[in-house]
Amino acid sequence: MAGIFGAVSKQGNCAESLYYGIDYHSHLGTDYAGMAVFGEKGIERKIHDIRGENFRPKFQHDFPRMKGKYGIGVIGYDIQPVLLASRHGVFSIVMNGNVANLDEIVAELQSQGATFAEIQPDSSISPAEVMAELISRAPNLEAGIESIFERIKGSVSLLVLTRDGIFAARDRSGHSALVVGRSETGFAVTTETTAFPNLGFAPVFELRPGEIVKLSDSGVQKIKESNNGSGHPCAFLWIYTSFPATSIEGINVEQARYESGRLLAKRDGAAGFTADIVAGVPDSGVGHAIGYANKSGIPFARPIVKYTPSWPRSYMPSDQSTRDLIAGMKLIAIPELIRGKRIVICDDSIVRGTQLRRLIKEKLLAHGAREVHLRIACPPLMFPCIYNQSTRTTKELAARKAIRKLDGKDTPGCAAYLDQDAPAHAQMVETIRQDLGADSLVYQKLADMAAAIGLPADRMCTFCWTGKAS
Ligand code: SF4
Repeated sequence: MAGIFGAVSKQGNCAESLYYGIDYHSHLGTDYAGMAVFGEKGIERKIHDIRGENFRPKFQHDFPRMKGKYGIGVIGYDIQPVLLASRHGVFSIVMNGNVANLDEIVAELQSQGATFAEIQPDSSISPAEVMAELISRAPNLEAGIESIFERIKGSVSLLVLTRDGIFAARDRSGHSALVVGRSETGFAVTTETTAFPNLGFAPVFELRPGEIVKLSDSGVQKIKESNNGSGHPCAFLWIYTSFPATSIEGINVEQARYESGRLLAKRDGAAGFTADIVAGVPDSGVGHAIGYANKSGIPFARPIVKYTPSWPRSYMPSDQSTRDLIAGMKLIAIPELIRGKRIVICDDSIVRGTQLRRLIKEKLLAHGAREVHLRIACPPLMFPCIYNQSTRTTKELAARKAIRKLDGKDTPGCAAYLDQDAPAHAQMVETIRQDLGADSLVYQKLADMAAAIGLPADRMCTFCWTGKAS
């Protein structure tokens, strides 16, 4: 996942809005960030590695020198923005998404003589550079962006910075969001609307899947209407990925989490379940826990708090064991709130289960929790994301590990376990519960997750849970 942001200043310098607008995407937890501004001398670009330090301190000395009325930026896993001199003039692009057939496209372009210069630290070719190359081969920029939609498998939203303004294009399947905003002094386009209010922008409209617009000092111009219906936004945007202040399709993320918690509590209440306190695993689990507490009447508490001052939000070491270690270091238990209590712990999802297992054993049971009951805001994760960059692999998912344990082998497709009302599914959940050391484990039903968000399940991407591509 990456966050992209573009800014237009009618007064002549967008750099400050751009700097803070990109920064509001820091929660997307990433490795590299960059900004590019079109000024008097053409495009000026800055890119930094932000694995050890947050975006703002890294760029604080850059942005005051970057002056121009149009700018774009990104926080992501790849080195971006890409800068290119093409027959359409100099342009720069940033992207959010995943090109599943990147190798195939690269091989084809290389066989036609293309070369790529923006090599990533792992020696791979920059997906954004490949997208820029596709654009440069088309008769014009607009056709180039459309050619990306035709050519790629996966999902790509992008911003293209030119002398004349910023082209913004939302991925054709609508998995990620792109929202245009307006202020008294200009326009902006953002992955998350969290970036808008404190910078003086009000959302004007959300791009439809496959729609292309151009932002400039003379306004926002529609370049291509969407012809792909309403698309399938990623359900995880509400459940886990997005910042609470963000709204997608007019649905606020924090409200969706409250509703998700409410529906989990409703099911527990109907089963006669009770406990002493409800808590959420920071950060996104907290919203689900508040919703659970409000419905159940069980008091909300924070027996586990997150220590953030000295940990850059975006510090994501590449190896899993260091990531787990750091995640554990950030969470601190408060024994006075734990001892002797029956605790409901809400979390957004279970990926590998490593962090939850350690939290239960080392932070809750070790401090005298009487019982620990896990409530998860989505169904078991069965498949890694194919539409965005994902650190998950099928093999390491907690649900797949449980299935391997039950079946004695990998079961591709795992069809017998997908039906949340099937006995095999219940066996899988019980195996995960035992592995995590919880007293009970309840996953949200797919229909309840969709109800909490407020969109029908078939209007969203639910591939992670169902394996059905959208
Ligand atoms: S596969 Fe999962 S994470 Fe990826 S877009 Fe679909 S629901 Fe979202």
